[in-house]
Amino acid sequence: EKLGLNEIREKYLSFFESKGHLRLPSFSLVPENDPSLLLINAGMAPLKPYFTGRQVPPKKRVTTCQKCIRTPDIERVGKTARHGTFFEMLGNFSFGDYFKNDATKWAWEFVTKVLNMPVDKLWVTIYEDDDEAFDIWTKNVGVSPDRIVRMGKEDNFWEIGTGPCGPCSEIYFDRGPEHGCGSPDCKVGCECDRYVEFWNLVFTQFEKQEDGTYKKLDHPNIDTGMGLERIACIMQGVLSLFDVDTIKSIRDKVCEMAGVEYGKDPQTDVSVRVVTDHIRSTVFLISDGVNVSNEGRGYVLRRLLRRAARHGKLLGINGTFLYKLADTVIDASEKAYPVLEENREMIKSKIKNEEERFAQTIDAGFSILNSFLDDKLLDNMEKNTIFSGNDAFKLYDTYGFPIDLTREILAERGIEIDEEGFNREMEAQRQRARANAKMTEVGWEDTIADALSNVAPTDFVGYDSLESEAKII
Ligand code: ATP
Ligand code: MG
Ligand code: MG
Ligand code: MG
Repeated sequence: EKLGLNEIREKYLSFFESKGHLRLPSFSLVPENDPSLLLINAGMAPLKPYFTGRQVPPKKRVTTCQKCIRTPDIERVGKTARHGTFFEMLGNFSFGDYFKNDATKWAWEFVTKVLNMPVDKLWVTIYEDDDEAFDIWTKNVGVSPDRIVRMGKEDNFWEIGTGPCGPCSEIYFDRGPEHGCGSPDCKVGCECDRYVEFWNLVFTQFEKQEDGTYKKLDHPNIDTGMGLERIACIMQGVLSLFDVDTIKSIRDKVCEMAGVEYGKDPQTDVSVRVVTDHIRSTVFLISDGVNVSNEGRGYVLRRLLRRAARHGKLLGINGTFLYKLADTVIDASEKAYPVLEENREMIKSKIKNEEERFAQTIDAGFSILNSFLDDKLLDNMEKNTIFSGNDAFKLYDTYGFPIDLTREILAERGIEIDEEGFNREMEAQRQRARANAKMTEVGWEDTIADALSNVAPTDFVGYDSLESEAKII
């Protein structure tokens, strides 16, 4: 019998309870008292005060299953088998208590004894200079040295600016060559879906100083993160996150609404997966109190909803549908997150509102985009085609197209936006708004990009639009 996602979550949390950890419920997706972060993107994020010593943890060992949002992954969603903008991260944490040896041993015990993963499918990465980790893996845990790969700072060293940081060690599962890119260079760390990273063990043993040097911490910490959907995908032996038991029910509903069959056409499948993922993130965001707006978290929510609406259109779904799909998400997750049930009507009505708002202008907006694309075809301008900043602003301002959505639609055809022109229009609008309004102070724009880009340095797509002042479309 295959393990369900809910069973895996329970197995993990109870395993670490048996190792003396206190189980805490998931924190909200909205960070508390943390101006450096837009949305919770890892299990450790809401626990930061315990790591820095600003607050005393309820226990030195804690385990959680944390809801996470990673918008930097948005363009990979539906295209890779392993990324969602929403996912749950399992984690075990030590605040100055156990360290590398126990963290490593327990991870291996869980993977090979509780989940019974075959050892010959597993690979381990360590930070290139971390000989201590190499010794622990080979001597204390018994992993074969030829299954351990040393990686550089970019992959296996975790740090955000100054403060606690350290090397990490990750566990990968080889799903076999049929899932690979086929390149002769394909190996652990390849961007394709053959070797799937599923667990990151962070050994927080240093404190990075202002002068860039690393000071050894007297009481090092442990922070680990394992993607629940990823491990479920591996355990269930399915193709992607979207075939995992709890997520598949949502995917099937999308197909039913669109009247399409999954697995027939790759393009269609991407849209089905995008809608499936985005409806999950939006349901959880709204349940945690985020409201649609043109800035900050509200903009993330708007972008996700409108992106989902667009892919719904690509699938041929007529009219508003996302709010109905929300029911399926809530049904699939309310056992683990009962608050979803309490918020069901609120969530649906907020989604419906935003869908209806976008529905009023989406067709007009698309016809502007399409006529541009048609003209381009007529003129046979294959290269160097630039979409004017003025038009991009009009789409944003009048037709409610988040700039990231416009940018993405055009990029699919190899067209770029005149970003400078767009920014000029935005700035002009900002000036007008400033002249008009008593603004609310936001005050975290500067730090968002920094904090998020640390999590995914290469694929962070930028939050320029976050800087726009509150403006309701
Ligand atoms: P990847 O390299 O695959 O993008 P990552 O190195 O960015 O993952 P970490 O920051 O190490 O991920 O997060 C810990 C774990 O969380 C990962 O090992 C993975 O299991 C899971 N995870 C990370 N990003 C996602 C995502 N977008 N969707 C689902 N699971 C994810
Ligand atoms: Mg990685
Ligand atoms: Mg990682
Ligand atoms: Mg990543």
